[in-house]
Amino acid sequence: GFTVAIVGRPNVGKSTLFNRLLEQRKAIVDDVSGVTRDRQYGVADWNGKSFNVIDTGGFVHGSDDVFEREIRKQVKIAMDEANVLLFMCDAATGITDLDDNMAELLRRSSKPVFLVVNKVDNNNRMLEANEFYSLGFEKVFFMSSMSGSGSGELLDAVAELIPEEENTEGAEEGEIPKIAIIGQPNVGKSSLLNALIGEERNIVSDIPGTTRDTIHTHYKMFQKDFILIDTAGLRRKTKVQEDLEFYSVIRAIKAMDEADVCLLLLDATKGITAQDLNIFSLAARKGKAIVVLVNKWDLIEDKKTNTTRDYEKQLKERLAPFSNVPVIFTSVTEKQRIFKAIEEGLRVYENRKRKVQTSKLNEVMLKAIESFHPPVVRGIPIKIKYVTQLPTYTPAFAFFCNLPDDVKQPYRNYLENQIRTNFDFEGVPIKLFFRKK
Ligand code: GDP
Repeated sequence: GFTVAIVGRPNVGKSTLFNRLLEQRKAIVDDVSGVTRDRQYGVADWNGKSFNVIDTGGFVHGSDDVFEREIRKQVKIAMDEANVLLFMCDAATGITDLDDNMAELLRRSSKPVFLVVNKVDNNNRMLEANEFYSLGFEKVFFMSSMSGSGSGELLDAVAELIPEEENTEGAEEGEIPKIAIIGQPNVGKSSLLNALIGEERNIVSDIPGTTRDTIHTHYKMFQKDFILIDTAGLRRKTKVQEDLEFYSVIRAIKAMDEADVCLLLLDATKGITAQDLNIFSLAARKGKAIVVLVNKWDLIEDKKTNTTRDYEKQLKERLAPFSNVPVIFTSVTEKQRIFKAIEEGLRVYENRKRKVQTSKLNEVMLKAIESFHPPVVRGIPIKIKYVTQLPTYTPAFAFFCNLPDDVKQPYRNYLENQIRTNFDFEGVPIKLFFRKK
């Protein structure tokens, strides 16, 4: 996927810009699971193109004296990993020494760098902001990320750089399912990979990934072919670089982009964290099929008959509204249910490919609509007459109705649930569209 990184010294407004870029999609998944605060990466949409956005600011930790070193490190990684860099400065403070330092690094970038001068909130500021041309970047954008002025031009320029084919979705018919192992550091991703790689007899071949950062391994198990996508760092014994949070996140996103299915590992002893939910909602937005693995299950003591059931119930409440996802309790170290996890991955892959016949779909859904009507708005009843599955790779359904804009979230959720339960889309994000015929 195409990746945009926002860099800049602290307090120039990186996270405000970040939130603005993600704005259009935020409402859907995040509001429900409460995932908005400490997010550093997400997917933005503009003019029908979507791209990853990373806010490097969220990854800078440490006291003031290590600050500058940390920031330089983030900038270097961003230059390596992203497709375009947004270098953000602050018109209110003017050019600082740290801006100068960063500019020097960034001028050497082989990737395009857009200088974004923020806090240009009025005409006076606009005049002062001209000094930023002296930093020597060809593309300069003036904006107020607070009011949003100027962000359209910036987004247009970013979208222009995205090649068309980046947007074509997913696999072709007959392709081998691609599975990525994702999750926070230390949840057991490398251990799982090693356990699978340990089964050498199952490996057909190693093939290079579509980017130099990923490795694709072709497996054959239970008479089924699949490709496991991992990042180089997962294989190495010393994961020094991969331990940099920013680094591992950006690579995980790449693995995710190349996959059809994501196995999301959680640490059973930690419960589900906000960071886990971020990763989950990112995979869901990218339309990937998902299986959740609750790993290190061996460490949970005094397991009773209800333990897994209660754990699963709580977990699914946190994942809502997309809680129709397989959950497997694994122990990688004791090799418990790791093959089950792969099997489930292959099952959700099939679910993601499912095409429902239009006649069957209408028969079931019109009945469901009949038994629970959409609301009446401004005295007019909403009438849904017809539904059809679109020919997209990630399942999407179009509902034809008289007042498409008035079908709101609760009723959408109802329809989505009906589709899921009647046609088995477990583990698959689905999209609903409402149209006037
Ligand atoms: P990664 O950062 O996600 O790749 O995590 P690692 O695979 O490096 O695992 C982190 C630590 O958790 C290592 O010490 C593993 O041995 C341990 N670990 C991984 N899976 C399990 C498990 O199922 N049970 C237990 N008890 N420990 C595990």
